[in-house]
Amino acid sequence: MTSLALGIPGIRRDPAARPATLGRPDVPGLIDRFGRTARDLRISITEKCSLRCTYCMPEQGLPAIARDDLLTATEIARLVEIGVRDLGVHDVRFTGGEPLMRADLAEIIRRSSAVAGGASISMTTNGIGLDHRIHELVDAGLTRINISLDTVDRDHFARLTRRDRLPAVFAGIQAAKDAGLTPLKINAVLMRDTLAGAADLLEWSLQNGVRLRFIEQMPLDADEQWARDNMVDAAELLSVLGTRFTVGRPHRDDPSDPAEEWNVEPTASTPGGTVGIIASVTRSFCAACDRTRVTAEGTVRSCLFGDDETDLRGLLRSGADDATLADRWRAAMWGKQSGHGMERADFVRPARSMGAIGG
Ligand code: SAM
Ligand code: SF4
Repeated sequence: MTSLALGIPGIRRDPAARPATLGRPDVPGLIDRFGRTARDLRISITEKCSLRCTYCMPEQGLPAIARDDLLTATEIARLVEIGVRDLGVHDVRFTGGEPLMRADLAEIIRRSSAVAGGASISMTTNGIGLDHRIHELVDAGLTRINISLDTVDRDHFARLTRRDRLPAVFAGIQAAKDAGLTPLKINAVLMRDTLAGAADLLEWSLQNGVRLRFIEQMPLDADEQWARDNMVDAAELLSVLGTRFTVGRPHRDDPSDPAEEWNVEPTASTPGGTVGIIASVTRSFCAACDRTRVTAEGTVRSCLFGDDETDLRGLLRSGADDATLADRWRAAMWGKQSGHGMERADFVRPARSMGAIGG
């Protein structure tokens, strides 16, 4: 792992330095040069995590972000308000790192929810500790949740995440269901070590009424072990699932939803349902991407794979008005790259790993 993999990439730290906006029409939304409009806001709120998934974090965790460098609950809510009111954001999702590691998560959700108009407020989490906090989070305004779970085999889970915490994740999933946060989506990253258990995970998901989505692993692991020729792709997954299930044809209800949904026939022991596959590597959905990201330190990142970041925290703390913040955000998104570029021979991994950007 290089130190660059953990460090902060080329951020425009000078609030006065503007990203290029040549040719941008004067319209209110978060449009880019390729005709896309971002409406789905991902906000990372911490780099800390209770797990160390090998496809994401280094064993020792990410370098700590100084407390003063993290956006506060008030600052996060201000960006949510500007995003929704002035920039057309429809969906707000908190991520990390692990959002449950922030003691003030309920306050972040409450303040954001109060200014979010009709936008949904959701969270992606590993579920550890969720059972103890679910009620305060729902009361604060949390409307949807995705929980990450790659395997239902305790040994595989412990190896993959470097922590023996599978029972805690199950407790979090149960708590989310009991609190009525349904349909509950489960994210599973496709890894060679857990591929043999993919059908077990699907069976468990169908039996427990949760919506499973497999995700192709992207080159965003801090340890830089990702290799295209060892990656499990959607085709390989489907052939493994096909040994136990009859899987139909794919459909995509919403063109900006990265998951293709495949119908799964019932079996003697399992009800029918669907399985989603997010083929981020082999069937890129970049052309329909509607994401805008804010890192835990308050920089706008237009693409997971683009190292260019635009600092909003400096503006927030220097007394900038909402119009200035909105304009800087729009300018950052205008420069969004067309795609991840993994198919190109000259592809270079981004400097930040997934846990440091916010997945
Ligand atoms: N800690 C929370 C969790 O795991 O759900 C939220 C942060 S995590 C970075 C967000 C999502 O990114 C998770 O669903 C995780 O599985 C996924 N992820 C992490 N590293 C990935 C990688 N290299 N490729 C694809 N997905 C990845
Ligand atoms: Fe933590 Fe989520 Fe990364 Fe796993 S994927 S190490 S749970 S941030």
